Amino acid sequence: MELDGKVALVTGSSQGIGQAIAIRLAQDGASVVINYRSHPEGAQETLDKVQAAGGKFHMAQSDVGATIQADLGQVSEVQRLISESVERFGKLDILVNNAGLEKRADFWDVSEEDYDKVVDVNLKGVFFAAQAFVRHLKETKSPGKIINISSVHEELPFPHFTAYCVSKGGVKMMMRNLAVELGPLGITINNVAPGAIATPINKDLLEDKEKLNAVLKSIPLGRLGKPEDVSNLVAFLASSNADYITGSTFYVDGGLLWNYQEQ
Ligand code: NAD
Repeated sequence: MELDGKVALVTGSSQGIGQAIAIRLAQDGASVVINYRSHPEGAQETLDKVQAAGGKFHMAQSDVGATIQADLGQVSEVQRLISESVERFGKLDILVNNAGLEKRADFWDVSEEDYDKVVDVNLKGVFFAAQAFVRHLKETKSPGKIINISSVHEELPFPHFTAYCVSKGGVKMMMRNLAVELGPLGITINNVAPGAIATPINKDLLEDKEKLNAVLKSIPLGRLGKPEDVSNLVAFLASSNADYITGSTFYVDGGLLWNYQEQ
């Protein structure tokens, strides 16, 4: 019941890690806004699971969760998402910036369009979602928690995914900066940095046995992560148990980061 009475927004939660986070926060008692861009059926699946997980904490099913469509690659949409979330539940306490995408290309072939797609969602979207959320918290003089799902690639090179690393590295410095600037307002901000997690973003890897085995060899714990490995940590960081934690990155990678650096 750590999050009873809290309202959380999870961006990009119609599948994968975001879906697991939405369900886990509901399990702990939060009302959850499920954001999606183009898969209402995925968002509905998340909502059904959120309602099953969190129903016991609320008088009405409609208080458990809601879905809101918004494209996180457009600042006006990001701002609308925050204001509609506040309108829907009366407030917002927790923002989980999870929506993200990656595009593979050799550096010399990266198009401006693909660079913009990645950076607009993974970095600019996170920046302006945090800004709109902070404006709401300032207006209502409330504390709050921001959790960004970044990546081991906020630290670790990922050849052929340079725009992705640019975006996640940017989120690392944004988080550190905001920890300092927002601390006096009672707002904490941290990054959760997954390694290789079995979700649709890794579809190609999951279907390529040879590549998968190579990745598994570099993970000391010997398996891919599950979305729940990430959502467990997010639930902790969203709770009052983490009130004194800000400005840090927490890796959920089975040891991948340090192993990689040793090779
Ligand atoms: P996923 O592809 O299953 O989920 C990404 C989600 O983001 C999807 O729901 C997608 O619709 C949403 N999204 C993308 N563009 C959007 C937009 N413009 N507006 C709104 N939503 C949008 O992948 P995932 O593994 O669940 O990824 C979640 C987060 O975790 C991402 O930020 C990703 O970079 C990060 N991450 C994942 C892994 C991994 O191995 N799976 C590793 C490190 C970091």
